[in-house]
Amino acid sequence: MINIPKGTKDVLPNDSFKWHYVERKAREIASKYCLKEIRTPTFEHTELFLRGVGETTDVVNKEMYTFLDKGERSITLKPEGTAGVARSFIENGLFNGAMPLKTYYITPVFRYENPQKGRLREHHQFGIEIYGGKGADTDAEVILLAKSLLDSLGLHVKLYINSMGCPTCRKAYNDALKGYFADKLDKLCSTCRERYYKNPLRILDCKEEGCKELCVSAPKITGYLCEECSAHFEKLKKLLEISGVEYEVNPYIVRGLDYYTKTVFEFVTTALGSQGTVCGGGRYDNLIEQLGGAPTPGVGFGMGIERALMLMEEEGVVIPEEEGVKVYVASMGDDAYFKAFEVVSSLRKKGVKAELDHAGRGVKAQFKYADKINAEYVVTIGDNELISGVCVVKRMSDGYTEETKISELAEYFTNK
Ligand SMILES: [Zn+2]
Ligand SMILES: [Zn+2]
Repeated sequence: MINIPKGTKDVLPNDSFKWHYVERKAREIASKYCLKEIRTPTFEHTELFLRGVGETTDVVNKEMYTFLDKGERSITLKPEGTAGVARSFIENGLFNGAMPLKTYYITPVFRYENPQKGRLREHHQFGIEIYGGKGADTDAEVILLAKSLLDSLGLHVKLYINSMGCPTCRKAYNDALKGYFADKLDKLCSTCRERYYKNPLRILDCKEEGCKELCVSAPKITGYLCEECSAHFEKLKKLLEISGVEYEVNPYIVRGLDYYTKTVFEFVTTALGSQGTVCGGGRYDNLIEQLGGAPTPGVGFGMGIERALMLMEEEGVVIPEEEGVKVYVASMGDDAYFKAFEVVSSLRKKGVKAELDHAGRGVKAQFKYADKINAEYVVTIGDNELISGVCVVKRMSDGYTEETKISELAEYFTNK
């Protein structure tokens, strides 16, 4: 037997309705906010992520699925959703169309991580990207969209916001961090000692207890914002307030990717017993330029679909099942089977979810199967029914029966 690769998961037929539900909600809400879907490839040139996501991030350093293809090109399975969209934006000249450009995507994402609860090597993300909106109103809109999606999924969350500043304030902040950690280098983990020289901000991401403790008293970015970044942040807070969205400023949210500027945010679950981020995002004003396009501000977020589903289950959210099989047409004998086949075809053409035997079973076994697939009604066709042209329709929930003409079955069920 061949097993599924570590860190991946099947979505089985009896569970896929849950995925449809989340994806449908995501599409509906995105559409209400006037976003259109974009689909980009599962793999890109590795260079895109090196330049887009940042060479000093954990994602790029440790977690990418990178390989040489048969043409010796370095290819990477996308580790996040934004870089591919940014590439497409530039390559397809989307900036020549209606701006801001508002898009969303649903995509698999690959990271070579140690699989643990809720962390997979392949997971799926719903994400949005808005290009060309430089004001805090766009940030607020993106946050509102995320909030209304999480609400509609029945998740209880808390919103944390922060500002990462622009390169100007970031430089001042990085210097401050360096100053703070200068006499604590021996207490940092080896990765963080490297980060100290390359990108001290990333120390705030460290999951090592020792580093985490030192970070608690580290300088906060909010104290180093330039005038413009500070005004942007204040405006965002005001917009969230007038929209009735509660938030808390958390100066330690830096997100794991280098491309963020100004606003960053995370929605964290408040459900008992679980913790962690359900959805996070922010602004990336330099990404498009970094990838070779004309300077264009961007803002967006990503939400892990597996994670959302897991939290929905923990919160006891009941996801409605999809429409079941309306009618199963059982038959006895070859002639009756031909009739059943014809009837089922015409039912399906009329939009009725209908099924019949495909295993050469006897009537009793056909009824058992109808039960297994939760058919709402069963119609039986045998020699007598062929002669009289009339058949019995049985409602499986209570055994109630009714007669109808075989030739009128399609009409009969279209109105059920
Ligand atoms: Zn700034
Ligand atoms: Zn560390």
